[in-house]
This record gives sequence, structure tokens and C-alpha cells, in this order.
Amino acid sequence: NREIHLASRPTGWPTAENFRLVETPVPTPGPGQIVVRNRFVSVDPYMRGRMNDVRSYVPPFQLDAPLDGGAVGEVVASEADGFTPGDVVLHGLGWREYALLDATAARTVDPDLAPLTAYLSVLGMTGLTAYAGLLEVAGMAEGETVFVSAAAGSVGSLVGQIAKLKGAGRVVGSAGSAAKVDRLRELGFDAAFDYHDGPVGDSLRAAAPDGIDVYFDNVGGDHLEAAISSMRLHGRAAICGMIAQYNDTEPPAAPRNLAQVIGKRLTLRGFLVGDHGHLRERFVGEMAGWLRDGSLSYDETIVDGLDNAPEAFLGLLRGENLGKMLVRV
Ligand code: NDP
Repeated sequence: NREIHLASRPTGWPTAENFRLVETPVPTPGPGQIVVRNRFVSVDPYMRGRMNDVRSYVPPFQLDAPLDGGAVGEVVASEADGFTPGDVVLHGLGWREYALLDATAARTVDPDLAPLTAYLSVLGMTGLTAYAGLLEVAGMAEGETVFVSAAAGSVGSLVGQIAKLKGAGRVVGSAGSAAKVDRLRELGFDAAFDYHDGPVGDSLRAAAPDGIDVYFDNVGGDHLEAAISSMRLHGRAAICGMIAQYNDTEPPAAPRNLAQVIGKRLTLRGFLVGDHGHLRERFVGEMAGWLRDGSLSYDETIVDGLDNAPEAFLGLLRGENLGKMLVRV
């Protein structure tokens, strides 16, 4: 069994030296436990925060212990009722080949219903984040103008498409390359821009001359500042992530225009996907329908080999992914 350990805590941008590949015996299950051979493991931006030794909504990763995170794989040994070898399960012990877990921490998924990777992307945590953040947290209404940052990523690409499917008037996305911008147009975004091409505020004003009603924030910093400036009265922002500052060692300078929140009666609402589990059934039903009739697409960037998981994570922070970044074990 191979697993990736946190060898040291990064300061600023993480590097390969912060990770260590460790060989351990393949575990055997105790009573109530199962062993899963992981097929795909997820790397996610929130994992950067867990590499710091600070109190947060999830405990920090421990040094010299395996990292964890979303994974799908096949049960290879079971001492638990309701699980037999060959079952496909979704669980939280990624970053390793073989996971030993209490059966209560695993959820069976149907491999005939959707590709395994979909349970870590469009039908999984990032899909629910997009759905809940846009519809419940920001309360997007028909006809509204929506702006989403990191729009070619896993959450962002779904936010834009769900917005269109739910009747948004205009959907604008920002991303980090010309190829990503092209992809956003293919996905049905009305306008898209590369945030390297000029000040975000100027690009956003050009893409949404009449302003925006909803901002889905994945980036923070200058993107949030630009969105505040472009917000119409009673605009809402779902504050999902602020990836632009995850590797910062100094507090951010932007948004410098936060006071506009008052005059414009804006709502900026932070959220965690974990609080929106009540939407899961509706979410899966609607998403599965859109996938079936071809009105929704999802991109995945798959890196091969568990030993490349740290590189996949670093690539995610650098923007090398289109859609969901995953590792094939
Ligand atoms: P993505 O697939 O969007 O990957 C991250 C992307 O962020 C990269 O591809 C990169 O694309 C972009 N990025 C990196 N650095 C910067 C920067 N400095 N400025 C602008 N863009 C940058 O990841 P996810 O879809 O998994 O997550 C998106 C966001 O949602 C993250 O902020 C994450 O923390 C948050 N999140 C929050 C959840 C919650 O419950 N609140 C749940 C899940 C995710 P590019 O090439 O465009 O720069």
C-alpha cells in the first residue's frame, strides 16, 4: 500500500518537499470495517488550508500521517454488514491506494449510473457546492446577471451552466487562460475573460456593462473588489472560496471598496457545502437529468498515479486544471 504523507507544513506556496510517499502493509478490516482499493482520489483547494496548523472548520492534517480527502474505490475486504467485495463506495480517505475505514463512513454509489469520477465532481462535493451556493446561498433569480470566478474550474464551470439552465439573463466567467475562456464560451457563458488581460474591474465592466446581481466568489481579492464595484442594488455574493490568498503570507489588500456593501445594500454570505446536505436529493435529480439530456457538461483533468498526487495538487493551485482535478490511483 502506498500513501502520501504530509512531511512538513508549507509556508506560502507548497512544494514537492512538503509531501512524502510512504509504503505500508495493505490493511485488513476489523469488525464493522471495510478495506477499499481507491480508484480515484480528489485534490481540492481547501486542502491547502488544512496544511497549516490552525483551527478551522476541519482539523489540520497531521505531520507524518497520510493526507485525506474525497475518494472512490472498490471494496476488497469487508467485515461489515451491507458491504461485499466489488461494491463501489465514496468515502473520505483519499491520498492512498488502500483505505481502511468504518463502514459507516462509506456510501455505496452505482457505477452504472455515472462514471466513477462523477461522484467526485459533477455529482459530488463540488457539484453540490455550485448548486447550493448559486441557488440557495445567493438565491439567483431568473433574468439576473451572474458573475463567477475560477469559472473553468470544477465548481465555477457548473455554477455558470446551472445559472443558464435556471434562467439567468447573463452569465459572465473569469479564468486564467485563453483556452479556458474559449471553453467557457462553449459551455454557454455569455461572456468570459482572462483575468491576466487587464484589471479585473475593467474586464468585468466590459463583460457586464449593466452590472451584476449575483457574484459567486471562488477567488477573493481583486475579483471580489471588482464584483462589489459592478454590483447592482441588492446584489448578493456567495462567498465560496478565496483561492487567490490561500498561499499568501500577508493579509490581502483588496477589496478596498468593501464600504460599498452598505450603500448598495449588498449581501455577502459565506457558506460551507456541508451545511446544504438537505439539497442533495434535489441536486442529484436535477443534475442527472441535465447530464442525461446533454444540457450540462463537466470537465475533468485526470493525473495518473498516486505518486503524482502532490504534483496534481500543486497544479490545481497553479490553474493547470480544466474542470475537476482528480488522481487516478
Ligand atoms: P477549481 O477546479 O476551481 O481549481 C482551482 C482554480 O483556481 C484553478 O484551476 C485556477 O484556475 C484558479 N486560481 C488559482 N489561483 C488563482 C488566483 N490567484 N486568482 C484567480 N484564480 C485562481 O477548484 P474547485 O472548483 O474545487 O474550488 C473552487 C473554489 O471553491 C475554491 O476557492 C475552493 O476553496 C472553494 N470551495 C468551497 C467550498 C465550500 O463549501 N465553501 C466547497 C468546495 C470548494 P485559473 O487558471 O482560472 O487561475
